[in-house]
Amino acid sequence: MSDRLLMNEMSWTTYKERIDKGALIILPVGATEQHGPHLPMGTDAMLSTAVALDVAKKIDAIVAPVVAFGYKSQPKMGGGNHFCGTTSLDADTLAHVLRDVIKEFARHGVRKMALINGHYENMMFTIEGIDLALRELRYDGIKDFEVLRLEYWDFTTQETLDKVFPEGFPGYALEHAAVMETSLMLHHFPHLVDESAIPTDDMAHFPAYDMYPTRTGWVPCSGVLSPAKGADAAKGVLLAGDYAKGVTEAILKEFPNVKVKG
Ligand SMILES: [Zn+2]
Repeated sequence: MSDRLLMNEMSWTTYKERIDKGALIILPVGATEQHGPHLPMGTDAMLSTAVALDVAKKIDAIVAPVVAFGYKSQPKMGGGNHFCGTTSLDADTLAHVLRDVIKEFARHGVRKMALINGHYENMMFTIEGIDLALRELRYDGIKDFEVLRLEYWDFTTQETLDKVFPEGFPGYALEHAAVMETSLMLHHFPHLVDESAIPTDDMAHFPAYDMYPTRTGWVPCSGVLSPAKGADAAKGVLLAGDYAKGVTEAILKEFPNVKVKG
């Protein structure tokens, strides 16, 4: 059996053989979005793929190409769509891309998949894409296709949070391009992090409502919503360890027939 993890690196014959033997498909979903002056715009796509690869090293899984564009960045969680480079999809476009890709997996014979979301704003539209796909698959008579969907950060343990945020956790939304993502990038892709460019802005403060068009002045000019200066690779190791372990356990709980690698 091929030990390659990425669908993109497999021949169709290898892919078919793996699928026929019950391999799980993991679909990472990210965004192309500003992540401050110190992180690359592909951060959400890279981190969702990195989590998927860590899981695929432990179980019989194939990592599909990441969906690298996400739903529109929002000021309170991603800085907003007004930043140069933040390149987003309409909600129905994203849902339909996911619907189509999931239906293709089912056509190949896949019956179990995991969707790993790495961009907060995608959440409801990943659900919509899955729901549309399952509804259409039922019309086609395929009723045994199952999807496990998750946001990887929900697998952070309290023990890790206490170590990564000794002064208190600001919440996942404000963590955009901050300690968690910067630490994970320092662990997985250190050559892509410019630590000298980490901004010194304070925590962003938003009112309890939104305004449209976006009040861009509410958002720090750097695009970073809470300070990233406490980030380091050791914290990234702790976070990545939680995600690899927690996501693998969830998959094996829901799909007990997936093989564990020795
Ligand atoms: Zn991000």
